[in-house]
Amino acid sequence: MSNQEMQNFIYKRFLSTPKREAFYYEGKSYTFENVYNEAYRWAGILSAKGVKQTQFVGVLLKNNLHSVFILFALQLLGVKAVILNSRLTSKEIIWQLQDSESVFFITEEAFKKVRTDVEMEVPSLRLLVKEEIVDDDYEEPSIVSEVRLDDICTIMYTSGTTGHPKGVMQTYGNHLWSAVGSSLNLGLRDNDVWLCAVPLFHISGFSILMRGLIYGHKIVLLDSFDADKTITLIREQQVTIMSAVSTMLKKMVERLQQQPLHVSFRCLLLGGGPASRALLEDSVSCGIPVYQTYGMTETSSQIVTLSPEDSMKKLGSAGKALFPSQVKICRETGEEAEANESGEIFVKGPNVTSGYLGKDEATAEKIQQGWLATGDIGLLDEDGFLYVLDRRSDLIISGGENVYPAEVEGIVAAHPAVDDTGVIGMKDSTWGEVPVAFVVIKKNAEVSHKELEEFCQEKLAKYKIPKRFFIVDQIPRNAAKKILRRELRKMVQVF
Ligand code: ATP
Ligand code: MG
Repeated sequence: MSNQEMQNFIYKRFLSTPKREAFYYEGKSYTFENVYNEAYRWAGILSAKGVKQTQFVGVLLKNNLHSVFILFALQLLGVKAVILNSRLTSKEIIWQLQDSESVFFITEEAFKKVRTDVEMEVPSLRLLVKEEIVDDDYEEPSIVSEVRLDDICTIMYTSGTTGHPKGVMQTYGNHLWSAVGSSLNLGLRDNDVWLCAVPLFHISGFSILMRGLIYGHKIVLLDSFDADKTITLIREQQVTIMSAVSTMLKKMVERLQQQPLHVSFRCLLLGGGPASRALLEDSVSCGIPVYQTYGMTETSSQIVTLSPEDSMKKLGSAGKALFPSQVKICRETGEEAEANESGEIFVKGPNVTSGYLGKDEATAEKIQQGWLATGDIGLLDEDGFLYVLDRRSDLIISGGENVYPAEVEGIVAAHPAVDDTGVIGMKDSTWGEVPVAFVVIKKNAEVSHKELEEFCQEKLAKYKIPKRFFIVDQIPRNAAKKILRRELRKMVQVF
């Protein structure tokens, strides 16, 4: 046996701690033995349908325990799961299924429209609907007893914020090292219980499943996020850790003003973007220690994390690289930037993907000597803390000055009449480019361009103030709710 092989993670966890509680879902507890048996049964059903090792299989499922069993069954069979985002349109799903050359498409009745569209557009793809096969014939499955750390476990597509989504190959080694990096930072406790209210189709949710197997702790799983339900479950199930994005945290904080969380709740991992000082302060006062993080599909979840003890003095920072990983900032020329100098963020580590499925050119362009060019701009301060500024492709250069749309959006969005906003650069004969803002006004509110401009003048340097404000009905966003600035660039031509 080479040193790249490990026992199948699910089987290993079943052997190690079969009687330990693995999941709490909808009022019921499940041990690792229960989960293994269910995953094994599903592996048998899928085997009988012809699903087998080395295939790529598309999976479009809701956030429930059955989905976990199916995802684990695929791991037992050594199948590469192409995990699809349920907020995508049929067209986007079909594109990802074809791009990954998936042989099967596993879904459930709730996704009726997608299912019909896929059947019509890709008749060669073999469709399996959960509810239709759950009681079907079973065949003794051929379980892959060992996995190689460089075997692909999952394919997850990036959000497609900057272009077409790319299928990120996530290996068992990537998931393992991501879990190790997280535990070396947060520590492991006997009583740890992780609440998962983020989507399993996203790396934020899927990484919780993998940590559950690797650490052997309990996961409290929710179909979707609901602040009241989450708080009740945190108290009832003595949850110690959860993952969230700022909108979730904000809703929790609003409800926790009167009655803080119990002391054993020790960590809320916050991803997706920086949090405001007000939100961080409110979180502390209601007993939520917030760990801000930076990560992406390519890093199999967080790669940089800020601990609560630094969160106030390094406000807005995403923290430092986890133990197995490294981060550096480079200039356009490729040399490393100095402290406090902005440039492209590069990351490296055993949790970082080896590349994009079927896209050797994109892989070679983005990953060199193990360093992944993230496409994000940021800086490391004198103490080595990372600040993420914006996407490289969205940077506006106006009269030689850098303008980060995210910063301008943060200010415009703070105006009480503004519901949503997106900022891009527009060609300008004097400055090369100038920032312009698309703005959605709140229902029953009114605001003039002049008022918006004056509001920005108080908070932004002159060259950062949008030169025009376009009032629109909505800001184009993708399934991850990120602004599609390339769509805004098309819209600017219409105005
Ligand atoms: P695509 O690569 O297709 O354009 P995407 O990058 O939006 O899509 P994801 O992998 O889901 O797809 O998102 C990762 C990105 O999210 C990061 O590269 C970064 O731009 C942003 N992000 C993550 N964490 C933070 C953070 N703490 N602060 C600011 N931005 C963040
Ligand atoms: Mg990306």
